[in-house]
Amino acid sequence: MRLTRLASDYLATGYRRTYDSEPSFENADRRLKVENQPPKPATPAQIMGRIEETVRACTNCRLHLGRKKAVPGEGVCSPRVMIIGEAPGEEEDAQGKPFVGTAGQYLAKWMDAIGISRGKSYMTNMVKCKPPQNRQPSDDECAQCFPYLEEQIAALKPAAILCVGLVSSRLLTRRLDVAMATLRDRVYEYKGTPLCVTYHPSAVLRDQTLRKIVWEDLKRLQTILEQFPETA
Ligand code: SF4
Repeated sequence: MRLTRLASDYLATGYRRTYDSEPSFENADRRLKVENQPPKPATPAQIMGRIEETVRACTNCRLHLGRKKAVPGEGVCSPRVMIIGEAPGEEEDAQGKPFVGTAGQYLAKWMDAIGISRGKSYMTNMVKCKPPQNRQPSDDECAQCFPYLEEQIAALKPAAILCVGLVSSRLLTRRLDVAMATLRDRVYEYKGTPLCVTYHPSAVLRDQTLRKIVWEDLKRLQTILEQFPETA
């Protein structure tokens, strides 16, 4: 091939032309440099995409048997607040999205009240598949699903975490036998991220006397967020 090229160059022009694809020390050097570069780290969006795909195909615990759609979570990739509930309900299971039922709409109002719209948050649950009869997820189901949540928190790096309901509140604060009335009264940290806890919106819909308490918790969260100004 090379000889044929040389002969045709001399016959046509009297000198040798250079070809882009021709092997040379410079080309080999350039290729080596590109090949030896360390791979670029995955972006949060790429990591979240991979987690979503894995969750949708996950069969690690018995909850996959009764789900219509797994619910990995939804929101922005660098959220002000990551909201962590308990488990998907009927509506979430049907749509594959978190907090879309009545309780979800109520939660959205809470967040609006402190200036955190869906466009500034990421919402998910302790377990990503609906438990039968809307029962609480069991300890072993939470344990099986927890690595997904850990990875989501690490990728998203939220300014703060808000746990709604006892299941996520107890597990992320590691205070497993404490009632919500006691749990909610302080700010925690999860691997360096400030974490607040409060009642689940569905509990407040059942018992309106909890509204005032939840408002105190939301104000506490708002105070934390004021310490971490938004970056443009
Ligand atoms: Fe997998 Fe979590 Fe669904 Fe269980 S709840 S099947 S661990 S995604």
